[in-house]
Parts: sequence; C-alpha cells; structure tokens
Amino acid sequence: MDNKIIFYNGRFIKNKTFYQFLKDRGFNFGESVYEVIKYQNGILICFDDHIERMERGLREIGMKNPLRRNEWKKICLEVAKKTGNDELSIYIQVTGGATEREHFVERRPEPNYFVFAQKICKRPDKLKIILHPEIRWKRVDIKTTNLLPNVLAKFYAKKKNYDEAIFFEKEGAVKEGTSTNVFYEKDGIFFTPELNGILPGVTRKRLIEFLRNRGIRVIETKIFVWDLFNADSVYLTGTTTEFKPVCSINGVKIKINKNYKTVEKEFLNYLLKISK
Ligand code: PLP
Repeated sequence: MDNKIIFYNGRFIKNKTFYQFLKDRGFNFGESVYEVIKYQNGILICFDDHIERMERGLREIGMKNPLRRNEWKKICLEVAKKTGNDELSIYIQVTGGATEREHFVERRPEPNYFVFAQKICKRPDKLKIILHPEIRWKRVDIKTTNLLPNVLAKFYAKKKNYDEAIFFEKEGAVKEGTSTNVFYEKDGIFFTPELNGILPGVTRKRLIEFLRNRGIRVIETKIFVWDLFNADSVYLTGTTTEFKPVCSINGVKIKINKNYKTVEKEFLNYLLKISK
C-alpha cells in the first residue's frame, strides 16, 4: 500500500518533504510549541527567557527539544542577518513530527523545527481594547500553536475597530489579551493577573522586575473587569506590543498616566541592557 499519496489543492503530490509537512502532528493536532523573539540591531531580546519557556512547554507535552540553546541562538541570529533588517520578530517552532494520523503513537517521532523572521508591524501608541469571554482551553500556560480562539477573538476585535481583545471569565476575572498580558495602575501600585490561566509572558515577567527594582509595588493577583474601568491607567505587554497604554475599553475612555512614554522608554532600554 502506498500511503504517501496525497491529493492537495486539486492535484496529486508525491514528495517526501511535503508528506512530512502534511503528516506533521503540529499541523494535524496542534502538537507544537513556538516562541516569538524580538531582534534589534544584533540583539535577541530576552532570548534565554523565551528558550526557557519553550523548553518547559516541550517538557509539558512530552516532546524533545531538537537543539541546544546556543544552537537556537546561532540560527536565530543567522536568520535575522540573512533577512537583513535591524528590527524583526524571530519565530521559532518545534512541531510533533510526521506520523500516521493517530492520536496515540507508540513512539514519538523526531520533531520538526523551523525558524523564520518577520517584519514588526507598526502598533498604535495607545490601544483600544474590547472584553471577550474566555473561550480557550485550560493549558494556555503552554505556548502552543492552538491559537484558533485567540485568532477568532482578534478578528472579532478588529472587525469592530479595536486593537486587542481581552479574555475574561464568567465571574469577571480578567485573564490576558490574544497576544498580550494585562497590567493596571492604581494609586501608584501596579496590578496584574496571577499566573493562573494565562501565558507567563516574558515581557510581563521583566516589567514586574523592572518596576520592583525601582521601588514600585507590583501585585500579582486575581483582577476583575471593574478594576480596569476604575484604574488610573491600564497597560498591555508583549514581545511585539512591548509596553502600551490602553485608551479605551469597550468604547469607554480610560485614563492614561502622563509619564507612560518615559516608563516605556526606560523599560525598553532595560530589556536591551539585560539581553546583551
Ligand atoms: N499572552 C498571550 C496569549 C500571548 O500569545 C503572548 C505572546 O504572544 C503574551 C501573552 C505575551 O507574552 P510575551 O511577553 O512573552 O511575548
């Protein structure tokens, strides 16, 4: 039996690489972990944090890491150099590898992996966000490519002219954005959702550290949608979003701290400094 026969978009294709790709467990089951790292003038921002998170994700879903840290770093830098931009997003992905399309396989195959670079799209300086019911699975702490709920929520937001959708639970607890973590500031204290049902964002972790180093109190706790509406300012963080204030939620204007540009600039310098 020739089980490598594949009919694809109107024609039969028999090609080993193509077969490997279509039978990949990442493609068929979302068995796949990824990272997005910002590259700036030869520096991979918070590279170790990203690789650490990916290593944990791979362990959590029982997959092997095909490369060592220094090998990943070398490839990321080479891809950035070949792409030829000073500022890029570098994508790393490790996927389950090709098997028969069976949920269970006796032996996990060698994973497939790839790295590519993408131009960073210009983001607005101030973000308009919309609240969206939580529709994701319970292991969003692992950065897998199972992003359909995030994609649907982002389309929902964009269609209504918002920049980002923020997931919240039935009882009002705020989780995170489709690709961002949430902070708010009240009476000089920063609050952010605790690490429970959210992705442990690299930018989130480093912002907490940056603020605490400056003597600013940061509380990781359960936060609610009404906290955001009552806040002195609300921020989103992420590798490509960086640190941005929110100017409205569901069309309701949100206050913005006049100092945010200084904090943003100093925080980005801090990220560069710790990544060198
Ligand atoms: N939350 C989700 C769901 C994400 O997908 C991302 C990044 O893609 C983030 C938060 C922010 O994480 P990081 O700061 O590591 O980019």
